[in-house]
Amino acid sequence: MSYFGGTENETDDPHADKFFTKLSTGCGGAVTGLILRLALPAPVFDLFDYLPPADVDPALLRPGQRLMVPFGRSRRCALLVELATRSSVPTSRLKAAYRLLDEQPLLDEEHLGFLRWAAAYYHHPQGDVLMSALPVRLRKGKAPLTPRPDQLFLLPVAEDVIAGLERRAPRQFEVLCWLRAQGGNARLDDFRQRFPGARHALDALRKKGWVETGMGETALSPARPAPHKLEPEQRQAIAAVSARLDEYAAFLLDGVTGSGKTEVYFQIAEQVLAQGRSVLLLVPEISLTPQLVRRVRSRLATRVAVMHSGLGEGEREQAWQMARRGEARLVLGTRSAVLAPMPDLGLVLVDEEHDPSYKQQEGFRYSARDMALVRARRADCPVLLGSATPSLESLKNARANRYHWLRLTRRAGKARAPQMQVLDVRNQVLAGGMSGPVLQALEQTLEQGRQAMVFLNRRGFAPVLSCYECGWLSDCPRCDARQTLHRRRGRLICHHCGNERPLPKVCPACQSPELHPLGQGTEQLETILREHFPAHPLIRIDRDSVSRKGSLDNLLAEVKQGRAGLLVGTQMLAKGHHFPNLTLVVMVDVDSGLYSADFRSAERMAQLIVQVAGRAGRGEQPGRVLLQTRFPDHPLLRTLVEQDYAAFAEEALAERKTAGLPPFTHQALIRADALQAETAEAFLEQAARQLTADDGQVMVWGPVPAPMHKRAGRYRMQLLLQADERAALQTRLHGLIPALGKLPEATRVRWSVDVDPLDLY
Ligand code: ADP
Ligand code: ZN
Ligand code: ZN
Repeated sequence: MSYFGGTENETDDPHADKFFTKLSTGCGGAVTGLILRLALPAPVFDLFDYLPPADVDPALLRPGQRLMVPFGRSRRCALLVELATRSSVPTSRLKAAYRLLDEQPLLDEEHLGFLRWAAAYYHHPQGDVLMSALPVRLRKGKAPLTPRPDQLFLLPVAEDVIAGLERRAPRQFEVLCWLRAQGGNARLDDFRQRFPGARHALDALRKKGWVETGMGETALSPARPAPHKLEPEQRQAIAAVSARLDEYAAFLLDGVTGSGKTEVYFQIAEQVLAQGRSVLLLVPEISLTPQLVRRVRSRLATRVAVMHSGLGEGEREQAWQMARRGEARLVLGTRSAVLAPMPDLGLVLVDEEHDPSYKQQEGFRYSARDMALVRARRADCPVLLGSATPSLESLKNARANRYHWLRLTRRAGKARAPQMQVLDVRNQVLAGGMSGPVLQALEQTLEQGRQAMVFLNRRGFAPVLSCYECGWLSDCPRCDARQTLHRRRGRLICHHCGNERPLPKVCPACQSPELHPLGQGTEQLETILREHFPAHPLIRIDRDSVSRKGSLDNLLAEVKQGRAGLLVGTQMLAKGHHFPNLTLVVMVDVDSGLYSADFRSAERMAQLIVQVAGRAGRGEQPGRVLLQTRFPDHPLLRTLVEQDYAAFAEEALAERKTAGLPPFTHQALIRADALQAETAEAFLEQAARQLTADDGQVMVWGPVPAPMHKRAGRYRMQLLLQADERAALQTRLHGLIPALGKLPEATRVRWSVDVDPLDLY
């Protein structure tokens, strides 16, 4: 098993490194002349040395170009990272690259430097990091797509100019009116369909500079909504960043839900765009926030490249190319957009900076939030981290004055903060997990013609199926976990490994028919609520109900238009949505986060509660939030309800400090899994032994079984490293990680290193 899984190469030969030469740093090289240092997607930390292609003028070679090279018995696409004059490998063993694939570098040296820094910091093979920054087609050595305009944009045209066309050039007038009705942006295909044979009208409009063709998901909005009249706190925040546009400075925009953080981003972005520089706006998940994409498009007069995992390969590459060539001045993207090349970067914005989805949890395990800070520092531009529930990491930095702390303490406009209330559900009769007071509150809200949201972070009908006769539970055969009951689909499904089976009619162990669901999921809430409120339309939003592309967008639109009175859902409802008519939020079960082994679970739960609560009362009507719990006196709940997130965070930080946990210390986790637990354990014991010559600065715990020991049929072990100083931890990892790959046990396990891990499982 190799260090990482899917390389996207023509062949996957795990022993390829026997057949090619590998650069070992250092000197004493026998070779002189031009040596190419290449990044290849291989589980090796160093670069590889090759000779230039025979028929290429060496003067044409520059870092950032791709080459096709022999690799083992196959050919691969490699990225030129450095030009050198000597190699430690004898010439006779160096192979020549086959051919040069790019005339111009795809990545500039600054960007290569940034990516190499990331590879070093996260102790991940350079080739994999550099290659993962390229669109998939380019990684495979394919030629870049030629930009082909597929969009039509309306540029700012004065109203009377348009009106004046009506008689003189009716066709052009029609086109402009149509484009305006489309929001200023339409697909060329749609245009051709709507106006067959209108090529001349279009050419005329382009010559006049009123219309432009371009590529990808882009927009130049003609009729922009007027910016809001700023609240004083918004104005102060904008002024603070505006004063530092020409240098690196980090800001924490700590603003309650609905305080108008997005407006702050937009107004700063406008200033940066006006200087001709580019803006990177990172968001946790675009598919969950289609509204934000629309808001950006209608608000900022610039070309936007949208980057997220839901795009096809071609779309993604077009967006990437627009960013790289500086055609799109604003890149709006999820985690991986932090890797996109952008010339003239002038501002980095990280929305919902606390969101765990900024951390990549497999392969190259980076934090896009943390990389955004480094990127801004290298680009010498400001970076703004925004959240209503900042991470403890960021709050600590703000307290230490490493970030400028900007606060928005009130909701913008007429909206007011929602009222939170804890509901003790011990000794209560529950219907589908919901208590009498909750059902009453829902009824009241619906009767007033308002919307209510019922939140439960568990999809399916019930998390377990159990036999009342013998105690059988629906265990997953491949994981230390239960299979979830999905009643409508008639299946038991493991949410960790996907293993599923048909719903048994009788107990598989004792054949008793007494099989019953335990606990609740959103599917069950939906069933119960439909029975209780048959007259009120209900929409369920979770991964099961919105699996089709675009369906979430449609459902959200229905909610906004007020077609649903009741909203039931998971996490997906927590993020960034703005439903003005929503006044009641019910959290069915907040207890799972209160007592957990993970030291971050309290922080996560507090963030979730505040974010979900933040959906209530964003319009003029005040909002109300009900939290059902069996632990009404839990300090976390008391602090959140009686005080606020800031008070919770202060207590939580004090606890972390006392316990010597992050952000006051720094961690790295080395994970290994194998078909036998002993194999994984032996590997990590070897690793631990390499660390025994301890300098006292780095503590090592383990190997211990991961909290979910067995998953997808493999046994998982882990070794935790912790240090007071980041640098000390880095030094130890630097010595350790390359050596780990050479351990004999390394071939028998799947292993990885996670620097600044967020999940200790
Ligand atoms: P946040 O991102 O902080 O949750 P938003 O930026 O989404 O908040 O703003 C919440 C709502 O308040 C939006 O409808 C937005 O248009 C509105 N808003 C923002 N700033 C102002 C302002 N200064 N005056 C009135 N409304 C505002
Ligand atoms: Zn049974
Ligand atoms: Zn499973």
